[in-house]
Amino acid sequence: MEGSRLKAPQLIAFDADDTLWLNEPIYTDTQNKFNTIIRPFLTSGSPDEILYQTEMKNLKIFGYGIKGFILSMIETAIEISDGKISSRDIGSIINLGKEMINHPVLILDGVRETLTDLSQRYKLMIITKGDLFDQESKIARSGLVDKFSYIEIVTRKDSDIYSAILKKYKVIANQFLMIGNSLKSDILPVCDLGGHAVHIPYDTTWQHEEVDVQAIKQPYHVLENISHLPEYLENYFDSPIG
Ligand SMILES: [Mg+2]
Repeated sequence: MEGSRLKAPQLIAFDADDTLWLNEPIYTDTQNKFNTIIRPFLTSGSPDEILYQTEMKNLKIFGYGIKGFILSMIETAIEISDGKISSRDIGSIINLGKEMINHPVLILDGVRETLTDLSQRYKLMIITKGDLFDQESKIARSGLVDKFSYIEIVTRKDSDIYSAILKKYKVIANQFLMIGNSLKSDILPVCDLGGHAVHIPYDTTWQHEEVDVQAIKQPYHVLENISHLPEYLENYFDSPIG
């Protein structure tokens, strides 16, 4: 392997939701409770599909995050019930959203140990998209803040955003490594820029984040668990200096 090793990453960035802590199951669980509320009004179609279409329509108005999701649930309830949903039911939907926002931050297996290890040798960053207030709160409550040199909360994750981050931190793409569970948000745009990416799939992926794997032209790595990351770095990259 001598000579074929890659330059050590100057910066290793992690996605947060479903990479560092559990997220998607909280949405799925809420959606199930929401379905129970609106089921009496449903005459045809799938409530999941109607909600998803409303979310997609609203994404460019509200952005990502729980607050937009709450508004989309309310809009869907009004639509499905043809305006007959009671204010009591709308109150229940708002409460579902508040429960999501206050949900404990559940750190995924191996995350704390791996970050503790890597933060001694590398500069680590969080790049997460979503609602600023909610993401800041989750980061603060995660107890992981001291592992990271930098935190970036962005409205979307595309190659323009990643490019701007690399410029801001003066990091060249091939010395940047991104870790995440979403091919669409964490892997594809980073590969497009010539950066390195490690995909750590999570059990469930939001429909919106699904992508055709064939669309990714650059090689990326898949790891089953974040705890395999130090070994991956050792195998493929030079040791970090200092
Ligand atoms: Mg994620």
